[in-house]
Amino acid sequence: MEILYRSTRNDNITATASEAILKGLAEDGGLFVPDRIPLLEKSLDELAGMTYREVAYEIMKLYFTDFTEEELKYCINHAYDTKFDTTKIAPVIGDKSPYFLELFHGSTIAFKDMALSILPYLMITSAKKNKAENEIVILTATSGDTGKAALAGFAEVEGTKIVVFYPKNGVSPIQEKQMVTQKGDNTHVVGIHGNFDDAQTGVKNIFNDKEFEQLMNQNGYQFSSANSINIGRLIPQVVYYVYSYAQLLNKKEIEPGEKINFVVPTGNFGNILAGYYAKEMGLPIHKLICASNDNKVLFDFFTTGIYDRNREFMLTSSPSMDILISSNLERLIYKIAGNSATKNAELMSQLTIDGKYEINEAMKQELADFYGNYATEKETAEAISDLYKNSGYVMDTHTAVAYSVYNKYMEEMNDLKKAVIVSTASPYKFTRSVMDAIDPGYDTLSDFELVDELEKISGVKVPMAIEEIRSAKVLHDTICDKSEMKDAVKAFLKLK
Ligand SMILES: *Cc1c(COP(=O)(O)O)cnc(C)c1O
Repeated sequence: MEILYRSTRNDNITATASEAILKGLAEDGGLFVPDRIPLLEKSLDELAGMTYREVAYEIMKLYFTDFTEEELKYCINHAYDTKFDTTKIAPVIGDKSPYFLELFHGSTIAFKDMALSILPYLMITSAKKNKAENEIVILTATSGDTGKAALAGFAEVEGTKIVVFYPKNGVSPIQEKQMVTQKGDNTHVVGIHGNFDDAQTGVKNIFNDKEFEQLMNQNGYQFSSANSINIGRLIPQVVYYVYSYAQLLNKKEIEPGEKINFVVPTGNFGNILAGYYAKEMGLPIHKLICASNDNKVLFDFFTTGIYDRNREFMLTSSPSMDILISSNLERLIYKIAGNSATKNAELMSQLTIDGKYEINEAMKQELADFYGNYATEKETAEAISDLYKNSGYVMDTHTAVAYSVYNKYMEEMNDLKKAVIVSTASPYKFTRSVMDAIDPGYDTLSDFELVDELEKISGVKVPMAIEEIRSAKVLHDTICDKSEMKDAVKAFLKLK
């Protein structure tokens, strides 16, 4: 059955999957949501015997209903290949709960690779299907990881250009180096004076600028988005929830149908929302545990029903979660408002105007699938150090936020169901914070000395993504004010 996509702010705006992927955001600023969540077609037993690619096909065909089997398999096979350093693509580690679902085996060693390695293929295929003649310009705001993963995905992809904006002082040194050394004439990287929310708001404003859209069109360009608001990113993320459950079944760690918990380090709410879709599809999930860092706007939301972004923005050691406006939450709000675009649009306009909104009692009842908590900087560092000392396993700062929140959940709920910690980055991506947590004595070492030291203590080989940037040349050095983002795009595209 065909699935259509609707704007979360207007029922009359609909799109096919390929149109929604091309557009990114709906014309009215809403997000595209599937008009229903399909149920899993294959049994869990059948899924347990499948490879990542096979599971990916089983899930994506249910959502991207206007793609042919050939088109979808082309996208999947080009995405999940030897760019990943393990044939499992997303391995589940450990032989007792909590398990770790490692989503960092792709080309930029963070979980964004899971979706951004397939998005360029979904997008080119969508362009062909819709006979789009303009060149696609990907515009992306990044808190650090999306940027590099999108650059790696789109570099040298014919018919596309990509512009990435990142907060100049809001990403790790390794994240920044990964981005500014990006090769490919179709890539452009810009640091802005501002934080991630400024970058994201700036990008949204450019998307909603009708005059600019016309100018682009006259010059043979059209924008699209690689941010997690694109359903071409959201849906591929549903896959690893199903696949990790299948792996646990396959290894006889769980019984068929056994409910488990997922703990998700959360920023823009994309990853955990994919988990929610997996649950709605019939995957036996008990709780989705939403882990925040000191920017605990989501914890407050889950405990009070009030979403309030009016607060100080904190820079933490888990920068990919330093976010006060979790864009994808809008999709959940729409759903718990009974798929009401009117109600959702009202709340989102309050968010724009007052920076906050409150959901009603009935909507609060619908949040029972979630549990929210947060970890402070100290708790995050302690989690890294404790786990390393007890098991030898080194986790990154984002994963450590999840681990720490899981411990709080256990203390509070004493829930013995098995749990999977969703591990979103390799510790090599945040080496300084990770090593500092293990031993403050490391502080005097340089970034790459730390990398070598991490290899020694963890026994995990330095990933290619890190080796590559040791000696790479800086190719991008544009910096601008948050008010000059549009001009930066114009200059890169040579628009008159
Ligand atoms: C992006 C990111 C997150 C947050 O994921 P969302 O989908 O934005 O909630 C967490 N950890 C890492 C390492 C990330 O790159």
